[in-house]
Amino acid sequence: MYKKTLSLSIFAALVLTGCQADTQAQQITKTQYDVIIYNANVIDVETGKIRVNAVIALDDDKIALVGDESLLDTNQATRMFDAENKYVIPGLWDMHVHFEGENLIKDNADLFPVYIAYGITTVRDAASDLGEQVLDWRDQINAGEILGPQIYTAGRKLEGIDSIWKGDLEIGNTKELNDALDYLDSKHVDFIKMTANTLQPDLFVEGIKTSKARGYKVSAHIPQKATVEMIVGAGVSSIEHASYMLRLGIPNEAELIAKINAGEIKSSAARKLYVSEFDQTLANKRYQALAAKGVAITPTLIGGKQLAYLDENDHADDDFKKYLTAEFMSHYAWRIERMGKRTPEQIQASKTRYQLIASQIPHLEEAGVLVMAGSDSAALNTFVYPAMALHEELTLFQDAGVKPLQILQAATVNGAKFMGVKDKIATVEANKEADLVILNSNPLEDIHATQDIFAVVNNGQLLEREVLDKLLATAAKQKIELDVTRANDSAVDVRL
Ligand SMILES: [Zn+2]
Repeated sequence: MYKKTLSLSIFAALVLTGCQADTQAQQITKTQYDVIIYNANVIDVETGKIRVNAVIALDDDKIALVGDESLLDTNQATRMFDAENKYVIPGLWDMHVHFEGENLIKDNADLFPVYIAYGITTVRDAASDLGEQVLDWRDQINAGEILGPQIYTAGRKLEGIDSIWKGDLEIGNTKELNDALDYLDSKHVDFIKMTANTLQPDLFVEGIKTSKARGYKVSAHIPQKATVEMIVGAGVSSIEHASYMLRLGIPNEAELIAKINAGEIKSSAARKLYVSEFDQTLANKRYQALAAKGVAITPTLIGGKQLAYLDENDHADDDFKKYLTAEFMSHYAWRIERMGKRTPEQIQASKTRYQLIASQIPHLEEAGVLVMAGSDSAALNTFVYPAMALHEELTLFQDAGVKPLQILQAATVNGAKFMGVKDKIATVEANKEADLVILNSNPLEDIHATQDIFAVVNNGQLLEREVLDKLLATAAKQKIELDVTRANDSAVDVRL
């Protein structure tokens, strides 16, 4: 089944009895691979066991063999790569990104190699105004035409009429729901995303049920006017953002929602109650029910953290900005301005709320909920930098008390489980897709290790540090060129 097999003849001097020496030809057949990585510490992300001095053979875009040093006796490769006793994990998955902005198409595309350089080999795009463009990118990446992470995308999301979101599919009744799903079917999206700015609870529930009946996973927010129970009961596959979990800690969510619906209480007041009335024991019980239902959660802590702590963190010198165009970062401004108007009490309240949300992740893990690491990186999400933000998200999990092994699972195998492809990818095992990250230190001791990358294997292609640095340098150069081109264009506009 292997592409190439070479036979080597070697002459071995054999010492025979009676001080006689003889030379004899021995035939050793070695199987030829594209790449062999040796001296590797391979981390099993399901058990946390480390296989030391391991050898990994790659054939085309697959892992062909994983074993001990003796594999070197019978196998060889075009490229032999010494992993220098560093740590091999599966390629990372960011389970919540948005490639968005009609004015930011090149900006987004130029960042794809940055994802690879940051060890992120798969992303789940939770819909945007660039829906069809993202689908094209997905197909181009899969075909090997452009370098980037493998993309699962929802294309465009379902919303209600006149929502605040750009480029969504707005539906007001059953027919429009089905038309929207027909459209998404025709585009071969990978899952359905639903949010509830104006989408009414009944149609939201119907949307989940219909999408599920059509064979899709549904990733959703929880509408302000619906209970978590309603959305879970409808069969939602993943809840986006752990902030919704706070609702599970109050005894009378249904009553509170009824009051919101009757206009007796504002949703901003309800938001405060979700914090002040929060009962951890009650929440934990309900997390077990989520786990039993098989509902996954993508906490996306980093966005809330960046906003809550904006007064303490100066982002002026953030290194990552060298990859982000002025146009891309201009989208951050409105939130920064809004946050600047907060009173000290409001700032403290948002920090308290953030800490309560973050502290739920170990409880969700404990209850057996499938937790997926996702950054929610998007041009609209202030200081949630593409690629970098996933690594920051992982450190926030660690700060919240999640064990490094669980964090690694959240950023690898859990995403594959969710997408139903765990048998094909996301562990370091024979016959899996060859997406790997080689880390300089052990991530099971400190998850910050994911930020110190020695090499990446993307789709069977080995990219050592020097190559990754070149990808990053190119991205930084493209950012400057794009900024200059745009500045010149607008200067021309002014003169005209
Ligand atoms: Zn999002």
